[in-house]
Amino acid sequence: MFFIAMYITDLGISDVRMNVIEAIKALPKVELHLHTLGSIQPSTLLNIINEAGFDTPYKSVKDILHRFQYTDFTHFIEVYIEIVGYITEERYFEQITFDMLRKCSESNTRYVEASFSPRDHLQHNLEFRKMIHAINNGIDSARREFGIETNIRIDLVRESTHDEAMEILDLIEKNPRNIVSVDLGGDETRFPPKPFAPVYKRAKEMGLHLVAHAGEAAGPQSIWDAINFLEVERIGHGVSARQDPKLVEYLREKQIGIEMNPVSNVRTGVVTSIKEHPIREFYDKGLLVTVNSDDPSLFHTDLNNEFVQLHEHLGFNLQDLAQLCFNALRIAFISEPKKIELERSFRAEIDQIIGQLG
Ligand SMILES: [Zn+2]
Repeated sequence: MFFIAMYITDLGISDVRMNVIEAIKALPKVELHLHTLGSIQPSTLLNIINEAGFDTPYKSVKDILHRFQYTDFTHFIEVYIEIVGYITEERYFEQITFDMLRKCSESNTRYVEASFSPRDHLQHNLEFRKMIHAINNGIDSARREFGIETNIRIDLVRESTHDEAMEILDLIEKNPRNIVSVDLGGDETRFPPKPFAPVYKRAKEMGLHLVAHAGEAAGPQSIWDAINFLEVERIGHGVSARQDPKLVEYLREKQIGIEMNPVSNVRTGVVTSIKEHPIREFYDKGLLVTVNSDDPSLFHTDLNNEFVQLHEHLGFNLQDLAQLCFNALRIAFISEPKKIELERSFRAEIDQIIGQLG
């Protein structure tokens, strides 16, 4: 009750009834697929560029926002690589992480799994230990300030050699704080998952959870390979599964979690519009789908916007959207007692929100 009252006061609405968009924004949420660097705020990036003295054409936040527009997936990767080049000190990750979680709290997100790709920065001579330390400082500050819980997953990156990926597992072993999972992002069309099978086997033995991006830029075979060779517990994206009815049925039967990112898929041209996104079809067929914001800053989105898009273009009602929140909790990499506690508080809050829907 306290939360609802606060929320409505913030909106300047005196009556306690909410319209559906306000109710969607008030839903307690979970974000399972979120990239740390893809959450960099344009103002933070501009500060870093200025502080480090880079000579760039970016003189304002507007210039940076203009750069964050893409013709296709390859163009997006090009911009991403450019940003990586500006991160010349490990300490920047504290601000980047804190900003990311502040934005998450604005969507009423309570639990986050943040993906981090150390390889990109190790190549620029940044130290893993210092980067994870800075990220954890950002996580600790955000927990104190916003009450948001965060775990880290490490993206091993498809372009890595076997030895590079194994070295990253060595680094995780030495610096394990808040790291719960491995992930595999990068160029899906040129680097299939099979060579990472021994790396994922070792990660599992280390007690890490297993996730991979698959079925975003490549077809359904990429998803099958992630399941068969990497034994992943969840799939990031999974869009191209819709081309393979057997795979859709397998994902449903095994209840493999799918971390979908609708706005990201529109921005990179994976789908032509939100209306064309398979999340509705997967949800109706009983697949364990969740909705996430991927690289929110680079794609001009946040979790509130993802939820509103699903409501406006794919007919998800408040109950459906609440179900997506429970799906995400169900597959979150947190302890069972924590999961039960969060489920209870989500249920109570959601019942209250539904009761106040005007
Ligand atoms: Zn992603």
